[in-house]
Amino acid sequence: MEFKDLKLVAPLLKALQQQEYKHPTPVQQQAIPVALSNKDLLACAQTGTGKTAAFALPILQLLFNDKKNGNASTHISALILTPTRELAIQIEESFKSYGAYTGLKSFAVYGGISQYHQVKKLRQGVDILIATPGRLLDLATQRLITLQHIKTLVLDEADRMLDMGFINDVRKILARLPQQKQTLFFSATMPPDIIHLSQSILDNPVSINI
Ligand code: AMP
Repeated sequence: MEFKDLKLVAPLLKALQQQEYKHPTPVQQQAIPVALSNKDLLACAQTGTGKTAAFALPILQLLFNDKKNGNASTHISALILTPTRELAIQIEESFKSYGAYTGLKSFAVYGGISQYHQVKKLRQGVDILIATPGRLLDLATQRLITLQHIKTLVLDEADRMLDMGFINDVRKILARLPQQKQTLFFSATMPPDIIHLSQSILDNPVSINI
């Protein structure tokens, strides 16, 4: 299978060609069509399987098409929650490279550094926000960030977020998001507390297991 068989738009195919990605990985082959059809997804996939592109490519495509159809939002449209600052930075880099020809803006916020520059950047407009739970909740409770226009939410490494004690922050963030949205849930393992969390937030999801 090739990326064009997944019906990706030209700006994404061009970026993938530059990355020298030849074929979609199994998680990409399975997750991309589900995400493009706006369905919820429950994916059991480890790091290193290509899971970042599995959620980044369809999100970029859906937002690119919205923009092309004149439905561009001036607010944050997609939110990726991830447990660590390192992952947030890596995911931001992935969105920036895959999205290089889409005109969409991706940005990561995380703790451990001053919020000043993050807030300044947010004010300039961001389409796709990547965040660690603590810093995001902090910015949201200060009303420095608007989460009411999110169309797609990704929970990345959900099991690690729970292990790191972020469940309460995650739940508080979820409460600030619109009811009506698409959720893509990724976890390397599926212990009972993860299954319980996924059941409480996903609506009729398609499950994939890599
Ligand atoms: P991830 O599982 O998202 O952390 O990705 C693991 C690594 O695989 C990253 O370095 C990606 O750049 C790379 N990668 C992702 N998708 C592909 C692909 N289809 N072909 C080749 N490399 C890929």
